[in-house]
Amino acid sequence: MGIVDRAIANSVPVIPRPIVKRISGRYIAGDTLDEAVKTVRDLNREGCVATIDLLGESTESKADAARKLKDYKKVVDTIDEHDLKSGISIKLTGLGLTLNEELCRANAEEIVEYADARGRFVRVDMEDSPYTDATLGIVHDLYRRHGNTGAVLQAYMRRSLDDVQNVIDAGFSVRLCKGIYDEPRSIAYKDFATVRQNYIFLLDELLKGGVYVGIATHDEFLIWHALRLIHQLEVPADRYEFQMLLGVDEELRSILVDAGHKLRVYVPYGEDWYEYSTRRLKENPKIAGYVAKDVIGSITGKVKR
Ligand SMILES: Cc1cc2nc3c(=O)[nH]c(=O)nc-3n(C[C@H](O)[C@H](O)[C@H](O)COP(=O)(O)OP(=O)(O)OC[C@H]3O[C@@H](n4cnc5c(N)ncnc54)[C@H](O)[C@@H]3O)c2cc1C
Repeated sequence: MGIVDRAIANSVPVIPRPIVKRISGRYIAGDTLDEAVKTVRDLNREGCVATIDLLGESTESKADAARKLKDYKKVVDTIDEHDLKSGISIKLTGLGLTLNEELCRANAEEIVEYADARGRFVRVDMEDSPYTDATLGIVHDLYRRHGNTGAVLQAYMRRSLDDVQNVIDAGFSVRLCKGIYDEPRSIAYKDFATVRQNYIFLLDELLKGGVYVGIATHDEFLIWHALRLIHQLEVPADRYEFQMLLGVDEELRSILVDAGHKLRVYVPYGEDWYEYSTRRLKENPKIAGYVAKDVIGSITGKVKR
């Protein structure tokens, strides 16, 4: 983390709550499920599909995890009721992974089974490195019984090449992203160009391996490489999709949709927006950097909304 990034990250806790809300507003559908439904409906009209993320990761007790499970089921029911083109994204720490792996596994199975019965896909987000093994292990097991789930791999992790190989053997779908957490150099590439190169390398392996890939990035250089690989390897349209976060580079999103590519938008919502936003700002100095630019841009009137 550079000195400027660190300074921005360290100043996050003193940013007043209303300012954090304003800054993060474009990245979050709102506090309520109704707002998420409206956002997804608008995205569907634009030709995008979605995945809904209910904010709030930490679980202090079994009761918290049970509440989260109930809330996830409500999201699935609501997607169904409104006939939205959307799946859900879940975090295993929200289902009790920090408390007890078996409890989490049972909760994850319950939501995947529930979504399976309603024809909906459940993407299991990848969190920080203490949870990588358990997360991939749980997805492997779930996938054997339910085809409607898949994992996320992070291009900054040194281990990801091995994980790619295992995923190809197992056959489940992968969202490939750079990775958002601040991991130590012993286990993660820290150099921007190396992470990019590794992303291209892993994507190449995944596409050749024939698994369904969610190409999750806003980095146009990587998107160009993805388009090149799709062309050169003659990857059929039902083997990949692009994925972007709500509120990020909507112009690039339209360019991909207009070119006929499937594009999924990650739509976070929920009352835990403050914790989520500040944690993200602190965890990822890059986002802190974008936010700083955004604040300066809105002060100088250069940011279009
Ligand atoms: C659909 C989706 C799901 C994800 N799921 C996970 C996950 O499960 N686990 C995980 O560790 N990470 C996840 N991520 C985050 C990911 O790992 C990266 O941290 C994030 O996407 C930024 O990397 P980038 O590839 O877009 O490249 P960057 O080089 O970081 O960004 C490329 C360009 O995109 C723009 N941009 C990117 N992010 C923002 C932003 N927040 N605000 C404004 N502009 C921005 C900037 O213009 C930047 O120049 C996910 C990302 C996406 C798109």
